[in-house]
Amino acid sequence: MCSLDEKNFRTILNELYDGLYFVDHTRTITFWNKAAERITGFTAEEVIGSCCGDDILTHVDDTGNNLCLGHCPLAATITDQSPRAAQVYLHHKQGHRVPVSVRISVLTDETGAVIGAAELFSDISDHRANELRVKELEQLALVDKLTQLANRRYIESQLEKHLTEFRRTQLPFAVYFFDIDHFKQINDTYGHDAGDTVLKFLAKTLIDNGRAFDIYGRWGGEEFIAIIRNLDGENLLTFGERLRMLVEQSYLKWGEHRLAVTVSLGGTLAQNDDTLDSLIKRADRLLYTSKKNGRNRLTIG
Ligand code: GH3
Ligand code: MG
Ligand code: MG
Repeated sequence: MCSLDEKNFRTILNELYDGLYFVDHTRTITFWNKAAERITGFTAEEVIGSCCGDDILTHVDDTGNNLCLGHCPLAATITDQSPRAAQVYLHHKQGHRVPVSVRISVLTDETGAVIGAAELFSDISDHRANELRVKELEQLALVDKLTQLANRRYIESQLEKHLTEFRRTQLPFAVYFFDIDHFKQINDTYGHDAGDTVLKFLAKTLIDNGRAFDIYGRWGGEEFIAIIRNLDGENLLTFGERLRMLVEQSYLKWGEHRLAVTVSLGGTLAQNDDTLDSLIKRADRLLYTSKKNGRNRLTIG
């Protein structure tokens, strides 16, 4: 077997397509490759020497549990030496949540003693599909400039199209209407630029966690719509809850403050006698119920 010197070894690790980092037994980050920089927005310089449980990646699971505070898979692997795999959402430096699949293995020295753990992670968001979508929509003036989401005109045309198709095929689709809670306070407290930045990272969280056929659009101001195909009654709740959680868990450092918002949502499935108007109105009423009942919640109907 050929032996690699450390410099070669580092070069190879840095050129990996997947993100990779090492922690020692105290969970202090000791290595951070180039792909980890690309996927998270944090440079090696910014993270090496800090604990992975610090306010950096703040992995959350599907239901919004902060793994870095409670059930850190790295800590568990360091303790029991069993490899682990999971799908989690990490915090990007620009604020949005990135879906990643992670694999964790224990690191040992030549005597077999545990010295830390390695986490390899792949970005599972569909960036290429999204880049193509934005290009196409831009040419047709159907994209919202600030957020790069579909604009209201496109959403309306897509809803009409989905309704026509639904009447023919009966394949269900869902519409979520959502509105940022107390958004005016963000503008009033931190300024309009901060508000714009929040709108941008919220949009990026939506897009990064969407599948190729999902449509996310900006309806106006701080109101958004999602059109999601192939959801049945039960998934209507879990999908909407995941959306709500991902927004709640997205944040950005703004000076010494932390910019974060929540959304109130209304979610509903298309029905045979729906028109564009009736569908939107129903989703909007459900959203209003969420606002009335305390915000940061989903109401389905
Ligand atoms: P609620 O929970 O009831 O929805 O409260 P809210 O403060 O979010 O609602 P309100 O309708 O009072 O305020 C919406 C704010 O959104 C006011 C407006 O200035 C702000 N807004 C709308 N579009 C933009 C934008 O493009 N950029 C910024 N920064 N702010 C925007
Ligand atoms: Mg509003
Ligand atoms: Mg609002």
